[in-house]
Amino acid sequence: MSKLSLYDFNDSILGLLECPVCMDSMCSPIYLCKNGHNICSECRQQVTKCSTCRDEFLATRNIALENLAEKVLYSCDNADAGCSEKMFMIDFPDHNSKCPYRLYDCHQMGEDPCEWKGHRWDLLDHINKVHTRKLKVDENEPNILHWKNFNINETCVYSQLLSLYGEIFWLHEKISAEEKRYYLAVQYIGLTEDSTNFTYKVEFASKCGAYEVTFKSFTHNDVEEKTALFQSGKCASLEYPMIQHIINGTTLSLKLSVTKFEE
Ligand SMILES: [Zn+2]
Ligand SMILES: [Zn+2]
Ligand SMILES: [Zn+2]
Ligand SMILES: [Zn+2]
Repeated sequence: MSKLSLYDFNDSILGLLECPVCMDSMCSPIYLCKNGHNICSECRQQVTKCSTCRDEFLATRNIALENLAEKVLYSCDNADAGCSEKMFMIDFPDHNSKCPYRLYDCHQMGEDPCEWKGHRWDLLDHINKVHTRKLKVDENEPNILHWKNFNINETCVYSQLLSLYGEIFWLHEKISAEEKRYYLAVQYIGLTEDSTNFTYKVEFASKCGAYEVTFKSFTHNDVEEKTALFQSGKCASLEYPMIQHIINGTTLSLKLSVTKFEE
């Protein structure tokens, strides 16, 4: 008898789990027709007759096949984009939200929210083509940024894409009128484990122009939503009394540097 590898065995089971209508892998609940043919729950709602024998469907489920479906390893939904992860059905939601091959949103500040969705490696190209106002940030020099007309009474969120070291990052900023607080976070776009290859440092300027209040952290990974990031306490933030203490008229000035660890 020829030897079957575990992966081949897994794939042969996956073949049995293919829905005859949509060709996707079926998972619980799986329904049956009168003659024992299977159908996935989504297709079950859309078709009235079995595609194999044209007979009626039953309300009965194929429990044995549902149990089997839980034991099989499935490929990620983003396999076509390059993800090679295989996982149990139960791990799908968690992986989908973190998969580095998923579709990303564009957060770039502009008149209207940007509708673009795409792969992370297409993001820079999209920004260059569509968004004209861009932030220039230098790799080796600390970058001096000025928040003009800084108004603590108006909540606003700004995101800008940074392109440094051949990598891309989001610079997220928020003024929260409710919390009377200003937030700044730099988020690395790419594999989660690579976000700790970079640090960012924020130095706020005092009224006399000296840079004193300092914050330093690894860049954040791209799994966390920016709102969660602001709330997490892991990013740079300033309370209103401190802002009042250092703001120059209505301009808040800061130095931002992003540094890469050299091996
Ligand atoms: Zn189906
Ligand atoms: Zn049938
Ligand atoms: Zn994936
Ligand atoms: Zn965009």
